[in-house]
Amino acid sequence: MIMSDYVKKTIKVKLDVAPENKKKLLETFKQFNQACNKVIEAGWIEEDRKNYNKMELHKETYREIKDKTDLTANLVCEARNRGAEAIKQAVIKWSNGKKASKPHIHKYSSIIYDKRSSTIKNRYCTLSTIDGRIKAEYLLGNYQKKHLDDKNYEKRTATLNYNQEKDEFYLHITIRRPVLYENGENTLGVDIGINNLAVTSTGKFFGKEVKWKKNRFFRTRRNLQSKDTRSAKRTLKQIFGRENRYTLDVLHRISRRIVEEAQKHNCQVIAFEDLTDIRNKTEKYDKRFERQLHSWGFRKIQEFTEYKAKEQGIETRYVKPKNTSQKCSKCGHVEKNNRNGNNFKCRKCGYEVNADYNASKNIGLKCLKETLPSDKSSDGMSHGQLALKSEMLNPTTASSV
Ligand SMILES: [Zn+2]
Repeated sequence: MIMSDYVKKTIKVKLDVAPENKKKLLETFKQFNQACNKVIEAGWIEEDRKNYNKMELHKETYREIKDKTDLTANLVCEARNRGAEAIKQAVIKWSNGKKASKPHIHKYSSIIYDKRSSTIKNRYCTLSTIDGRIKAEYLLGNYQKKHLDDKNYEKRTATLNYNQEKDEFYLHITIRRPVLYENGENTLGVDIGINNLAVTSTGKFFGKEVKWKKNRFFRTRRNLQSKDTRSAKRTLKQIFGRENRYTLDVLHRISRRIVEEAQKHNCQVIAFEDLTDIRNKTEKYDKRFERQLHSWGFRKIQEFTEYKAKEQGIETRYVKPKNTSQKCSKCGHVEKNNRNGNNFKCRKCGYEVNADYNASKNIGLKCLKETLPSDKSSDGMSHGQLALKSEMLNPTTASSV
């Protein structure tokens, strides 16, 4: 059981701002972001000397900003935090060998409001400005209403955004509620890979079409990249956008299906491989997709699933990837030759099955084994079982563990 874990959401609401208040808000934007830039000025000492220590920057800039602007003390502090954070991000980028020029905060960049500089109610908010507090009603849809009225959610901070084109203000309210995990250890094992983006221990295969579709995007892009015309460049940009939307959409859909599968089989745990050290798993991946999917796609499926699972009270756990694709999920025999591309055939017991499906069972079993009570005086039985197609498997009776 994980304590103090939260489901977090950001609710975007449009504000109904009276004309006289609009002026005040716009001026607040201007001064707030000028203050951010002032802090960056102070922290960006020399080409190779930067300071993003908030305390030090506070001492150095607070008085001056407070005197020269009409911002409240809290907003001055938020501006300092924003400035310090911008420097820090640039330094991180820079130390990773990337180019990082001095950050500049745009005059209509968002303003961060905390509990002292704002009051966030269910239907309206009050916000500090350069000239006192203003009140603004929300313009709400059902989704927003439902979440704002939900007593389980606590309203945290908010950022105010201004859309210059539409001349509209939006408040992004972050809310959170504690996760209520369901009792139980029944586990759904999930393997993530190239051929099938996800395969569950219950025998569901997801995202088989993605490889084909990604291949097509790849070929189109390569064709366009070889042409050096303006229209080719524009089309290329569109293709990139389309591909990104397609990929995100697929990853969301698959993660939703994984969670549904866990619910259908009464599982309280979803088990994945820990992909942090993915380079050890080269056997599994095709070079061309390595970059596109490895770098973020696989991890994104896990992130999305983890998030969606949390909302349903289902916990996500990670196991080390060692041997999950070479091990026989029936008898436990480990041999490299067990696996041949998409096929798995155990050299010892002859068990023959789809390779990704075999891996998903191993992942689930490994996860259950790791949560077995270590106390010898107990019955040594796991409290959970592995969900299979039409049965549950007790990991202590499964010979593979
Ligand atoms: Zn076997």
